[in-house]
Amino acid sequence: MQTVEPIVEKNLTCPQCASPALYRFGFVRGLQRYICLTCGRQCIPGHERVISLARPTCTTCGAGMHLFKKMTDYTVFRCGRYPACHTYLKVEECPGAATAPGLED
Ligand SMILES: [Zn+2]
Ligand SMILES: [Zn+2]
Repeated sequence: MQTVEPIVEKNLTCPQCASPALYRFGFVRGLQRYICLTCGRQCIPGHERVISLARPTCTTCGAGMHLFKKMTDYTVFRCGRYPACHTYLKVEECPGAATAPGLED
């Protein structure tokens, strides 16, 4: 009797919702495909255009903002001039497979 257990890829996150709950979901042209259990999005890591958020611009001072906090379903950017400027921006969109947190510059 064979038991098939889903394998969670710990280093991958959904390009749509950033959920880490990606399970192997067969192959496409020899490439491993995954499906997100959170939103159902299928993806092939490395073979899909990464939806990366351009760094937003601070609405208060116009400086470039930095990624401050990445949550499951939203991302928080902080003004690059912090602490001189305390502007935060919450973006409810997955930044995709963006890696570097870049908390401090
Ligand atoms: Zn997802
Ligand atoms: Zn600012």
